[in-house]
Amino acid sequence: MAELSEKTRAKRVDDNGAKMVRIFASEQIESTRTLADRVTEALMRKIVGEELPAGSQLPSEQLMAQSFGVSRTVIRESISRLKSEGLVDTKQGRGAFVRTDRTDVPLRIGINAEKPQTSLLHILELRLGLDAEIASLAAVRRTRDQMSTIEKALRAIDEASDAGGDAVAEDMEFHLAIAQATQNPFFFELIRFLGSAFYSGIAVTRANEGRLEALAKQTRVEHEAIMKAIMKRDAKGASAAARNHIEKASKRLLSADAEFWSNKAMQVVRNPKITARK
Ligand SMILES: [Zn+2]
Repeated sequence: MAELSEKTRAKRVDDNGAKMVRIFASEQIESTRTLADRVTEALMRKIVGEELPAGSQLPSEQLMAQSFGVSRTVIRESISRLKSEGLVDTKQGRGAFVRTDRTDVPLRIGINAEKPQTSLLHILELRLGLDAEIASLAAVRRTRDQMSTIEKALRAIDEASDAGGDAVAEDMEFHLAIAQATQNPFFFELIRFLGSAFYSGIAVTRANEGRLEALAKQTRVEHEAIMKAIMKRDAKGASAAARNHIEKASKRLLSADAEFWSNKAMQVVRNPKITARK
């Protein structure tokens, strides 16, 4: 009997604990991510992504409240935050405008739809120095776990290609795994930051390679050379292999015929997720 009541008491404490966890969990969500936070972020994305370019007028409070499904108070709160961030200006009686003189103009690296080949070559040129340094540092600093992540990433590229996929995401993971192994988080962040540009860049180079089996095999050899040098802790070799990979990728890009650039490549640039290989 005494034991039973002990259990009951313990259960009550547990129940209470669980209840507190529930209460605090909902408290946390409420206090860290308010509706105004989310609306502010959504508007920021539109401004930074130039869906709302400099000088353009934001829709009316009422319209935004409707489209976001929030109250006008929330919209007002968001606008005042964007104002204090220096992103928008409000003009009495005329609403809010995206500032033309904002100082936070983000670094934009993307594919110019008019000249995709040129944009991609420029991106590859950036990667030339970046990837060489990353591979060199990874060779010196990688841990055993990071080495096996790199090996796995390489195998994932093979598996994806064997399954008939374009292996674009897997290729990206391989280069990110190497960046991670530098132990410098900024290299990883930098590659991830440049992600969308690299991603569509790789999509096009691989779409190109996908058409030409021999070139796909070449890429495999290049990736393996990087991986092996990192495994041997050969910094110079890793740097040279990474440089070679990017140089060859640029050449492959240049050798793509005009028909490829006018059709397939543009499809890939417009929608990087499309499966390039038929
Ligand atoms: Zn690659």
